[in-house]
Amino acid sequence: MKLYDLPSAENLPAFQTPPISGNKTNGRGIKEKVRPRRVYHSLGRNDFPWAGLNAFFLMSNTWGILLEAIKYRWNLRKSLGPVARVQEAVPDPQKMTEHLLEKGKEFGAGVIGITAFTDDDVYGDVELPYRYAICIGNPMRREEMLHVPHARAAQEVQRSYGEVAAVAVRLAEYIRSKGWATCAYGDPRSTDILQIPLAVRAGLGQLGKHGSLISREYGSNMRLSTVATNIPLAVTEPVDIGVDDLCTACRRCTRDCPPSAITDKKQWVRGVHRWYVDFDKCVPYFSSTYGCAICVEVCPWSEPGRGLKLSEKLLSKRNRKSHSTQ
Ligand code: SF4
Ligand code: SF4
Repeated sequence: MKLYDLPSAENLPAFQTPPISGNKTNGRGIKEKVRPRRVYHSLGRNDFPWAGLNAFFLMSNTWGILLEAIKYRWNLRKSLGPVARVQEAVPDPQKMTEHLLEKGKEFGAGVIGITAFTDDDVYGDVELPYRYAICIGNPMRREEMLHVPHARAAQEVQRSYGEVAAVAVRLAEYIRSKGWATCAYGDPRSTDILQIPLAVRAGLGQLGKHGSLISREYGSNMRLSTVATNIPLAVTEPVDIGVDDLCTACRRCTRDCPPSAITDKKQWVRGVHRWYVDFDKCVPYFSSTYGCAICVEVCPWSEPGRGLKLSEKLLSKRNRKSHSTQ
């Protein structure tokens, strides 16, 4: 049962006559570095171009999804909090990094890494008072996610956001207890930041053709949270697990995306040549199907236990190829 008996997104004015193209707002085709702008995830605000469709998406949820969303909001209530008055000195940032990565795992992080914020990771209307991002990823229950694009999978998405947000909150509280300002960020609606590019730089995985992060451990069947902090840290390195090698040859998500939003060629987006999903095609479908996520689940990397072997195979194939051409 849904919260409201709403018309399908196809009948909405925002669907038929879209506002300014989300691709334009996202900076598709722009070769220079420019700060990202908000376009869809609005968290109660209505001053973004596609905020109306986002409101429709939120209102068309089921009670089960809403309950999970309330739980994860509850988990995020301590994303900010009191900072201990006495600040612990950090003479060795590398040692502190290792300690916090271990703590993150102890608090329940599946994968975890650290990078430094750049302007590209923060929306243009936000001045973030933090230097480092600790990126966390946790898997979703695959048996639930195989129900995409229906409510059962969307409920699991919200549950997973709550779980990974709770890890970030615990880690943020721990760092604040050492006297360093820290904030925990949960799902896209609650953020000032772009979590995927941060997680890529922190070494959690690589960007796939479907626009989502792919990790060796969980493929794309995962959700992210981030801890933003000023405690001195060392960054972890990005990884190459072979995602581009497979995405160049594979067309699974391109074929299975109902509105054909996924393209086979990388594009310029705000100064980076990368995979990009057509916002104007994806988001209306996404908004009328509980967040869709078909591309995430059909991706071969998302099959449990497959990523490690797949990565090994792709990298050794690349090595063999480069040796044979030398
Ligand atoms: S389904 Fe294939 S092309 Fe799409 S992201 Fe996954 S590996 Fe890449
Ligand atoms: S979420 Fe759905 S509509 Fe959007 S790119 Fe993925 S498969 Fe296509």
